Amino acid sequence: MSIKVEEKLFENRYRVDEGRAHIFIKEPDVCRDKCETPSCTWTCPAGCYTLGEDHSVTLSTDGCLECGTCRLLCNEHFNVDWSYPRGGYGVLYKFG
Ligand code: SF4
Ligand code: SF4
Repeated sequence: MSIKVEEKLFENRYRVDEGRAHIFIKEPDVCRDKCETPSCTWTCPAGCYTLGEDHSVTLSTDGCLECGTCRLLCNEHFNVDWSYPRGGYGVLYKFG
């Protein structure tokens, strides 16, 4: 039996800290005007970053897996302000 990544991700649960996103794009204009390789939009395993038609990038941290990929790969402009969620919030992995 095969199972898709999306199906496995659906088994995780999240506690969203309303109004207190734990990751920010520091300067959205940099994403739109200066970033030629918006790696965040194709490497985030949870699809938190979305590339718009005008090359702007929007971020929704709901569903973030706290993997750190976006922080590591934004290594040209260092435009991601990254931290873990407050205690009790964020991803709850389902094991087994
Ligand atoms: S990689 Fe960094 S600078 Fe480029 S679009 Fe993503 S957050 Fe913005
Ligand atoms: S930490 Fe990982 S899952 Fe969360 S927004 Fe960044 S790349 Fe996506």
